[in-house]
Amino acid sequence: MGSFVNVVIHRLPLNQSIVYPSSSCPRCNSKIKWFDNIPIISWLLLRGKCRACKNKIAFSYPCIELSTGLLFCLNLYAHPTIYSQQPINVILFLGCIFSVILFTLAILDFKYFWLPQVLTSGGLVLGITISFFIDLNNGFYQFNYSFYTLLASLLGFTFFNLLSRIGKKIYNKSVIGGGDAKLSAMIGSWLGIQGLFITIWFAFISAGIFVILGFIFKKIKSNQKIPFGVFLASSALLVWYFGNEIFLEVFFL
Ligand SMILES: [Zn+2]
Repeated sequence: MGSFVNVVIHRLPLNQSIVYPSSSCPRCNSKIKWFDNIPIISWLLLRGKCRACKNKIAFSYPCIELSTGLLFCLNLYAHPTIYSQQPINVILFLGCIFSVILFTLAILDFKYFWLPQVLTSGGLVLGITISFFIDLNNGFYQFNYSFYTLLASLLGFTFFNLLSRIGKKIYNKSVIGGGDAKLSAMIGSWLGIQGLFITIWFAFISAGIFVILGFIFKKIKSNQKIPFGVFLASSALLVWYFGNEIFLEVFFL
C-alpha cells in the first residue's frame, strides 16, 4: 500500500494511469525489476540509486512506504467512536482504507495544494457505502449509520462552502479551496457528525498554532498559502484513532 501511495502521488498530478505501466526510472527509463521494487528494503540495498544509471531515488519513497506501514499498525489500537460496536477486524480493515486515503490527500495537498476529487469524492462514496453495509448487517430497515454519515457529509460540505463564500465576500478572493469542502464531506462520511466537527475544530486549532509559530520563527510570510487539507486529514486520522471522547474530555472539561 505504501508503494501504491508513491505511485498515486507521482502519477496523479501528471494525469497518468496508476495501474499501467509498471514503474520505471524517470531518467534512463529502464523498467524496475520486482527485486528492486520491494518496499524500503530495495531502496536500502540500492543505496537510493537506480541500478542502471545510478540516478538518485528520492528519500521520500522509503519514507512514505514506512509511514504507511506505521499508520496501518496504529489501526490495531484505533477505536473510532462511530463504529465502536463493530468487531476489531472490521475497524482494522476500515481504518487501513481511511488512513491510506487521508495520507495520500495530505501529501498531495502539501506538495501541490491539491485535493484531487478522485480521492475526496471517491472516499465519500466509500464511507457512505460502508456505513450502509454495516446497517444491512445490523438488520434490514435500520439505516442509523448511513443516515448519520450522509447527514454528516452534507453538513461538512455546507460548512466549508459557507466559509468559502463568506471569505470571498470579505477578502474578495478565495480563502478556502473547493477541495476542503469535499474533503470535509468525505471525513463526515467516515466519522459521523460529532467526529466531523471535532476534526474541523481541531484542524483550525492546529493550523492556527502552526501559523503563529511560523510567524514567530519567520518561516511564513503574511500572504502565504496554507495547505489546510493537511490539517483536516491529520485531525480526522487522530479522531479515528483516539475516538471522540478523549478530545471532548481534554478540551471541553
Ligand atoms: Zn535509471
